[in-house]
Amino acid sequence: MFTVGLTGGIGSGKSTVADCFTALGVPVIDTDVIARELTAPARGTPPDARPAGGLGAAPGGAALNAIRATFGEAVMQADGTLDRAALRRRIFADHAARHQLEAILHPRIRQVVGQTLATLTAPYALIVIPLLVQRQDHPQGAGRGCKADKSATTTHRPEGERLAAYPLRVETSGYQDVLNRVLVVDCPEEAQIARVMARNGLTHAEIKAILAAQAGRAERLAVADDIIVNTASLEALRAEVAALHQRYLALAAAPSP
Ligand code: ATP
Repeated sequence: MFTVGLTGGIGSGKSTVADCFTALGVPVIDTDVIARELTAPARGTPPDARPAGGLGAAPGGAALNAIRATFGEAVMQADGTLDRAALRRRIFADHAARHQLEAILHPRIRQVVGQTLATLTAPYALIVIPLLVQRQDHPQGAGRGCKADKSATTTHRPEGERLAAYPLRVETSGYQDVLNRVLVVDCPEEAQIARVMARNGLTHAEIKAILAAQAGRAERLAVADDIIVNTASLEALRAEVAALHQRYLALAAAPSP
């Protein structure tokens, strides 16, 4: 199946763009949703935690046992659910731990993506991969930003709680071989910060810390086949997505080289 990978920095507008594709009938597979399901309580993620049109049903909690075995009770809550804030602190603080978490989640996420793609009959599918591009100088998400993030989560509890509400993201790169195209949502950092502050209530410093740990705009744009510059209205965004949709339909219908 023809596939388009959608990526972009924090608050750039990935979900908004994905929703525009969903509205056009395009199947959307979101690797964040899959990661959340894999680490949800074994009974599965509540349906309302899944974005409209989201695909990629993962067995609820399929990664929980492996996470518990690797990181111990320190990352579990008393009720047996994952303590996301504790796990986040752990992987920001420790490169090796981040690799271990990636080794648990990454293959499982890829497997669910593959299984889901196999069930689809649409002309093409969109796969949302927030961390498709990782920072080259801080491949494990280490660095100044992460330290700032860690201190924010450990010394300022209210901020830590807000950060805990943010999706727990791990390395999901390695998709280049299954993607026909890469679509990057791009917007200036200040717009990203303003949008995330308005949406999640994170502080400017917390968002800067996350941005510092992510790939930069230039690194992402370097792998883009298509770019949406998300600085205009939602109406303009919908029109851009509609034009891209036509392009992808044509590309998907063309015989592969
Ligand atoms: P994250 O990385 O945090 O998951 P994201 O890249 O998926 O974020 P969105 O959730 O789509 O980004 O957008 C962030 C916020 O900005 C949302 O509240 C969304 O409604 C808003 N937003 C996105 N694009 C626009 C736009 N063109 N005009 C106005 N608001 C926008």
